[in-house]
Amino acid sequence: MQTLSIIVPCYNEESVIEACYARIKSAINKLDMKSQIIFINDGSYDRTDSILSSIADADSQVTVIGFSRNFGHQAAVCAGINHCRSDIAIIIDADLQDPPELIPDLIRHKEETQANVVYCVRKTRTGENRFKLWSAKFFYRTLNRLSEVKFPLDTGDFRLIDSKVIHEFNSLKERGKYIRGLISWVGFKQVPFYYEREIRYAGKTKYPLRKMIFFGSNALLYFSKKPLQIAISLGFTVMLIGVLMAIWYIFGRIFGYTNAESGWTSIMIAIIFFGGIQLLTIGVLGQYIGILFDEVKERPEYIIEKIQNENNG
Ligand code: UDP
Ligand code: MG
Repeated sequence: MQTLSIIVPCYNEESVIEACYARIKSAINKLDMKSQIIFINDGSYDRTDSILSSIADADSQVTVIGFSRNFGHQAAVCAGINHCRSDIAIIIDADLQDPPELIPDLIRHKEETQANVVYCVRKTRTGENRFKLWSAKFFYRTLNRLSEVKFPLDTGDFRLIDSKVIHEFNSLKERGKYIRGLISWVGFKQVPFYYEREIRYAGKTKYPLRKMIFFGSNALLYFSKKPLQIAISLGFTVMLIGVLMAIWYIFGRIFGYTNAESGWTSIMIAIIFFGGIQLLTIGVLGQYIGILFDEVKERPEYIIEKIQNENNG
C-alpha cells in the first residue's frame, strides 16, 4: 500500500488548527493509503502547541515537530520534508487557503499523469488585497526573467511531491531554501493542477510586507546571478559616458569650445551619480557575500525541541 504524508507548517494558528486537522483528516480518510499528518509548530507563542499536543495524543496518525523558536515558513516545510518517509508528500498551509478537500484530486492527478510533482496553480485568489496580487505577479515575472531556472507562475508551496523528489530535495546542502524554486529546479515530470484559492479561514497573515520583500529578494539572490551582471553592465555604461565626456572636455580645452572652470554643477552631478552607482554595486555584491557568510557558517536550518509520535510514517 502506498504511503502519504501531509506537511503542515503552523505559526500562531490557534484559531485554525482544529478546523484544519478535521478537514485534512476527513480528506485522507477517503483514501486507500496509509497516511500521516506532520504538523510543524514553528515556535508559536499562542495555544498552537497545546492544541497540536492534544491532537497528537488522541491520534497516532499525527506527528508534531516542535521548533525551539520561530525559524520561518520555509524552514518549517523543510523539516516536514526531511522527516517524511512516505511515497508521496503534500505540502499545505494551515490556514485553509489551500482546500484540503483537493488532496484526493491531487493524488488522482498524479496517478493519471504519472508525474513526480503536481504543483497547484491559483486560478483566483479571493480575499487578497490588490497590492499583494499585483506585487506577487510582478515579482514572479521578474524572477523568471532573471533566474536560470524557470518557475511556474501563480503557485505557492501547495503541491504534491513523490519519493524521488523528496529524496533529491533531502540531499540538497544549501541552507537558505526557497522551496518552490528548489522543487522546480530538481526537475522530473512536473504538472500543474488548477484550483481556486480561498480566503484565510481565521487568524492573520504571517507575511507582512517586510517579510515578503525579504522572502522575494532571497529567492532572487539564491536563483540568479543576473544582479551582478547588471552591476557590470551599469559600470561599463557609466565608464563609457566618462570616457566620452573626457574626450569632449579635453578637446574643448584645446580648441576652446568649453569653459571648464564654470563646471561646478556638472562636477557635483558626476560625483553624486558615480557615488550612487558605486554604492549600489557594492550593495549588490554585499548581498551575495551575506549569503555566502550564512551558508559558510553551516548552521542548521532549524532546531527541533520535541517530536510527538515520531515513528508513524
Ligand atoms: N508559517 C510558519 N512560520 C512562519 C510564518 C508562517 O510556519 O514564520 C506558516 C503559517 O502558519 C501558514 C503558512 O506558513 O500555515 C503560510 O503563512 P500565511 O498564511 O500567513 O501566508 P500567506 O498565505 O498570507 O502568504
Ligand atoms: Mg495563507
